[in-house]
Amino acid sequence: MLALHGTGVGHGIAIGKARVINRPNKGVEQYTVAADAIEAELDRLSGGIRKARESLLDLRPHSGETLPEEVASLLEAHVTMLEDPALLDEPARIVREQRVNAEYALSAWGRRMEIMFTRIQDPYLRSKSVDIGQVVQRVIGALMDSAETLGRQPEGTFDGEIIIAADLTPADTIELKKHRITGFITSLGGPISHTAILARSMKIPAIVGLHGAIRFLRTGDLLILDGKRGVILASPDQKALEAYQRRREKIVRRHQALETLRDADAVTLDGAPVTLLSNVELPEEVDLSVSQNADGVGLYRTEFLFMNRAELPNEEEQYVIYSDIVTRSHRPVTIRTLDLGADKQVDGGRTNDGRTINPALGMRALRLCLHNLGLFKPQLRAIFRASAHGPTRMMVPMVSNVDELNQLRVLLDEVRNELTDQGQVFDPAMPVGGMIEVPAAAVSADIFARKLDFLSIGTNDLIQYTLAIDRVDDEVNYLYDPLHPSILRLIKMVIDAGRSAGIPVSMCGEMAGDPEYTRILLALGLREFSMDPASLLEVKQRVRISDIGHLESRLPGILGAVEPEELRGLVQQLNQ
Ligand code: PEP
Ligand code: MG
Repeated sequence: MLALHGTGVGHGIAIGKARVINRPNKGVEQYTVAADAIEAELDRLSGGIRKARESLLDLRPHSGETLPEEVASLLEAHVTMLEDPALLDEPARIVREQRVNAEYALSAWGRRMEIMFTRIQDPYLRSKSVDIGQVVQRVIGALMDSAETLGRQPEGTFDGEIIIAADLTPADTIELKKHRITGFITSLGGPISHTAILARSMKIPAIVGLHGAIRFLRTGDLLILDGKRGVILASPDQKALEAYQRRREKIVRRHQALETLRDADAVTLDGAPVTLLSNVELPEEVDLSVSQNADGVGLYRTEFLFMNRAELPNEEEQYVIYSDIVTRSHRPVTIRTLDLGADKQVDGGRTNDGRTINPALGMRALRLCLHNLGLFKPQLRAIFRASAHGPTRMMVPMVSNVDELNQLRVLLDEVRNELTDQGQVFDPAMPVGGMIEVPAAAVSADIFARKLDFLSIGTNDLIQYTLAIDRVDDEVNYLYDPLHPSILRLIKMVIDAGRSAGIPVSMCGEMAGDPEYTRILLALGLREFSMDPASLLEVKQRVRISDIGHLESRLPGILGAVEPEELRGLVQQLNQ
């Protein structure tokens, strides 16, 4: 039995067979091949070489066609290299001796050969290193085509399995929906990355940032995945298996017990009503929001609608989806305008050509939309039109200066006028709010509050930007700290600013859905929480056993704490 540790996402337990998959265009990954699968891996290797040769032969001119002489001779040279038994022998030895996958063995051998050739004095022979690199790449390409990747597999291929990948983009994660997987593990990534957020909302237990996952876990291994503790047990013994099966049943029973709170009011012991809203990533999740009796949708992340497709959704398609969500929700729905960029790329981040140096600080969210009205305007129109079907709010992500808000206001007026002229039905007074997730906006929240109808604190980004920790970088995960004094102070500033301006303030970052933070947030004055609907009843339970008067009396001590340990201790006391 092997135990590995990473960062847990979601609190469930998954038990299933492992399936190691490749990520396209992510380079060659190394993984271990089971002893009884070595022969099959060697067959894959020779099959890859055969396929690469055939693909080159296909490039030969058909009758009547000719190729420039140098191209023809290059083609012949590559075909000859692919027919040379040496191309198979050495990588095959690496597969056998190191028990690694064929792609890795080939690329390791190719690198070695390239280095050898670059040391050759004769310039003509030295230039041959390029040909070796190209031939190796062609074979690796052929191998990866036959390897298991997401997207290319028919629906249901990975049903019931635990997927293991070096990395998964949010777009990949959505793709996993086709496969009703039991859980997933990635070597990279952080707990508030959008991949992790999606896993939570799709109720898939996952572990991210588990270094060596690809190296140590093999397709076919039986795995126990503990999403709460971030632990993987590979090939568990019977005792561990039974213990985890019991724990899994206990979690199910605890959730069933919470169901009794479904129709209970979210009111504190001293009578303060609290609004509990849902975060929705995919339109079908509205059903869960309704079944948990949420007060509405506090954040609908529209960008996922734009992923995994060749053409972007037009106004009409967006209108149909948004109005369906508004209709099905029966309660207010906050539709967030596109927050593309950073780790949420339309193309799944696969074509990142390195031009963007730091995408989280780059052309993202509202900035991107204001520079691309062809993308933005149809969405604004669709949201306005959806407002005819029920209470709707529009929310813009990542506001960072007032100029942006002024530009937005002009644009919204334009859209309203156009819709009116065209006789479209919509709510002209639909509230327009902004997300406070950049420290600059939090510090000047009083100014922003005068320009917006409501504010929503996005702690995922607010923490990323304030503490200077990339939310998708597993190496700096350990610095993620919602209780950092700067974060508590910024949250308080935003809540106070909203109160003074008389506008609602909610929070829709992951912090809002963690019951460990419910009381400190109530103490800071928060009364509107938006979260993964699966966390809603647990947070409601906390609210119902909390006394605001008592919590507020403890706040000065917490905000005045100097040592992090002291502060954490005081928050823990608050939770008791
Ligand atoms: C946030 O940043 O807290 C947030 C809710 O937005 P997202 O996670 O989509 O960036
Ligand atoms: Mg954000």
